[in-house]
Amino acid sequence: MRRVVILGGGTGGTLAANRLRRRHPGRELEITVVDQDRAHVYQPGLLFVPFGLATPEEIVRPRDRQLLGGIAFLEQPVDRVDLGTDSVRLADGTELAYDVLVVATGARLLPGETEGLLGPGWMRDVFTFYDLAGAAALAARLATFEGGRLVVNVIDMPIKCPVAPLEFAMLADWFLEERGTRDRVEITYVTPLDAAFTKPVAARALAGLLDEKGIELVTEFNTGQVDGESGTLTSFDGREVPFDLAVVVPLHGGAEYVGRSPGLGDDLDFVPADPRTLQSTAKPNVFVIGDAASVPTSKAGSVTHFEGEVLVENVGRFLAGEPLDAEYDGHANCFIETGFHKALMIDFNYDTEPVGGHYPGPVGLPLLKESRLNHLGKLMFQWFYWHTLLPGRDLPGLGPDMPTAGKSLARNRGAGR
Ligand SMILES: Cc1cc2nc3c(=O)[nH]c(=O)nc-3n(C[C@H](O)[C@H](O)[C@H](O)COP(=O)(O)OP(=O)(O)OC[C@H]3O[C@@H](n4cnc5c(N)ncnc54)[C@H](O)[C@@H]3O)c2cc1C
Repeated sequence: MRRVVILGGGTGGTLAANRLRRRHPGRELEITVVDQDRAHVYQPGLLFVPFGLATPEEIVRPRDRQLLGGIAFLEQPVDRVDLGTDSVRLADGTELAYDVLVVATGARLLPGETEGLLGPGWMRDVFTFYDLAGAAALAARLATFEGGRLVVNVIDMPIKCPVAPLEFAMLADWFLEERGTRDRVEITYVTPLDAAFTKPVAARALAGLLDEKGIELVTEFNTGQVDGESGTLTSFDGREVPFDLAVVVPLHGGAEYVGRSPGLGDDLDFVPADPRTLQSTAKPNVFVIGDAASVPTSKAGSVTHFEGEVLVENVGRFLAGEPLDAEYDGHANCFIETGFHKALMIDFNYDTEPVGGHYPGPVGLPLLKESRLNHLGKLMFQWFYWHTLLPGRDLPGLGPDMPTAGKSLARNRGAGR
């Protein structure tokens, strides 16, 4: 019996466990998933909660119920990993020995790292929608927000779903228009990047949309302090942005136990891995999936999903003593809500930046173009998440690699990193 221990039972840990179980249905593999809590949040749904378009109850399900039979689930925080003895210690002192370890503990929000962010204005005039409590509290605040300066601020990169704060700003424009208060609100998008987004072609399209919607864009703003009393963001170079209501995406880091596990992680507690095989650089029997990984692609559920197929193939090969030949190409895609029942879609990988065309083929969803079809795709995605993606089922015709059919690739290849 070989033992696979998976740390984290979110998107990546769950789909990896279920894919492994499907591939190795016999008793030769013992699979254990560890998570610190039981509530599996469909995180893309957090975007909709502040606008009353989803309730917290609608986007949360029990973690263990998403795992196929024959997978053990332990609800315990991970205390540390000992690479020397191939074992994990949990907070209650339990020791778990493994033949293969899969790190899937995602990214952690670190609001305490920014001066003043958790100060007097927190959850009164300063919010985040990146967790359930914040998204719900913001819904209550937005419902009574009658006017003033609404600032959406990304503190620093990397963050999960880098398009989510842009979507928030555009949905806020729609929400306020629907409520008849848009003309009383100035919306400002404040980012540390030198453009609206990291990828130049998508950044141009998104900056154009912000402009059309009357959303001011402030770039290269590295927030050093948030003052909830005076309503001011101050950058490290002394610039100020005033606000009445701030919606902030805090600094992200990897899970805390990574820092207590010598040799496992980097300075931010993310876990470096070969970007193609997903084998960690720490030790050959440790693999990494999802937001926990330090690889040069977005921290996104789509990335986690595409990585899952490659990771499970390579874990199987590793256990069989074979060379790892499954390769992840950096494929990522995102629906970007733009308000008024429309959305954009982008699709890219390590080597190719988002381009126009269609996904997944010539007659699919339009890329880099607002459409109602993309908005419907975004809404329907939650069903696919619970019923196809998490259970580790294959989607016919949709493999992990970025499809090239239907795309205008020639001009953009090689510009994606
Ligand atoms: C607001 C928002 C909107 C998003 N929208 C999209 C979108 O539209 N499209 C998209 O593709 N992606 C989106 N994402 C990103 C997506 O949700 C994540 O990239 C994805 O969930 C990553 O999966 P993961 O398994 O790496 O991490 P997670 O799903 O976060 O799972 C990590 C798990 O590890 C557990 N854990 C952490 N530390 C410990 C510990 N010490 N001990 C035990 N357990 C621990 C956590 O409890 C958690 O269950 C969004 C994210 C947010 C926040």
